[in-house]
Amino acid sequence: MATAVRAFVGVGANLGDAPATVRAALQALQRLPQSRWVASSSLYRSAPLDAPGPDFVNAVVELRTELGPQALLQHLQAIEQRFGRVRGARNAPRTLDLDLLLYGELCIDEPALTLPHPRAHLRGFVLRPLAELDPQLSLPGLGAIAIWLQRAADQPVHRMAADLE
Ligand code: ADP
Ligand code: MG
Repeated sequence: MATAVRAFVGVGANLGDAPATVRAALQALQRLPQSRWVASSSLYRSAPLDAPGPDFVNAVVELRTELGPQALLQHLQAIEQRFGRVRGARNAPRTLDLDLLLYGELCIDEPALTLPHPRAHLRGFVLRPLAELDPQLSLPGLGAIAIWLQRAADQPVHRMAADLE
């Protein structure tokens, strides 16, 4: 895959058996076409931001992909649909949320696809698993992940022990 781009996908769930949903989504991401699965982070648990409801479970996956950014997002949305996501208000409880966090160095500012993901650098539950995969990562246009992680240090995010998942 000579032309493959390094991409990171955020996985989140907070309805039903959220850890099981996240693990099933990780498996679905391993089967994306024209893509090679590189690594996935641990699972992390956090309380929802600005919304009621059960805790979120989050993880991040690193891929190498030959899919273009829009095509990759379409595949992610198809997986969300398969998991029965009901679209509602932002931050509303959902079965599964898949976000395209980073696609190489690409910066796009369109409502349908904003890259880097517009809220990723503000969310501890994205930054923690992303930094687990690459602590040296630089977010295009935003700078070192370590800086953003420090700024989000007041957001409680707990890495889940494998035997408690
Ligand atoms: P959030 O993930 O912030 O809670 P949603 O998943 O409900 O919000 O937002 C989905 C919408 O955001 C979709 O219409 C999608 O086209 C748009 N979007 C824009 N940029 C991205 C991105 N980088 N990853 C995923 N969806 C994005
Ligand atoms: Mg989303």
